[in-house]
Amino acid sequence: MARHIACITFDFDAMSGLVARGLTSATPVSRGEFCAVAVPRVLALMERYGIKTSFFIPGVVIDTYPQVCEQIVAAGHEVGHHGWTHVPPASLKPEQEEADLVRGTERIVQLTGKKPVGYRSPSWDLSPITVPLLLKYGFLYESSMMGHDHSPYRARTGDIIHQDRAMEFGPASPLIELPISWSLDDFPHFEYLRLPTGVTPGNMNASGVLENWVDDFEYMTRTEAWGILTYTCHPYVIGRGHRMLMLERLLDALAERDAVFLTLEEAAREYDGREPFGAAP
Ligand SMILES: [Zn+2]
Repeated sequence: MARHIACITFDFDAMSGLVARGLTSATPVSRGEFCAVAVPRVLALMERYGIKTSFFIPGVVIDTYPQVCEQIVAAGHEVGHHGWTHVPPASLKPEQEEADLVRGTERIVQLTGKKPVGYRSPSWDLSPITVPLLLKYGFLYESSMMGHDHSPYRARTGDIIHQDRAMEFGPASPLIELPISWSLDDFPHFEYLRLPTGVTPGNMNASGVLENWVDDFEYMTRTEAWGILTYTCHPYVIGRGHRMLMLERLLDALAERDAVFLTLEEAAREYDGREPFGAAP
């Protein structure tokens, strides 16, 4: 029987992503501050639809907005690791990456009472040691890579990337990859960003983005008997009025297509049960 899973996930960055890009003045900080308005809106919508989701939260955001984070936990949503700061692992020194992973985990344990099983890197850029570190610390899944659209897979370690000859791919590890895509992320579509390195125009019409997002799910239902499609939203991005209506319409459109709404942890465990690591294909 066909089963198509939709994971609506939220990266609760607040201002940490802007601060990591050097945007520390009052207006960009207030832009992230809008999350305190937006998270309750998102939680209310999810409650109305009876959907549990996954929130990825940097440690500094847990410390900045403890009460908002407690609301997320009280509503029964999963909390995943999203770094200590929002600096991507590929930009960190190895010792700092490990220290931040440990520190962020401790903060999530304080918040939820249990270790996170899922990790999503800030700005989706893993270092060569990220997957080994996640294995070392017992994570079940990772969600920052783009090697498929609707099929999870096992993350590799030890790839050697050459410029001028064939890539050398390392072996698959037990770590489950729940792939994402910039096209299924609200940020690049909607957020206007002006940096010394260039301008992201954002401010797309939400109906057009909705059409893309629904069609990716529709395509999965036509081509696969089982699959997971992961959407990534940021509360301060999706929390604006016209985008909240888009999110509501997305939930309706997915429900019409018999979507099963799961947290990423639930989705990872379902995949693990269907395709245990090391079993013959
Ligand atoms: Zn983020």
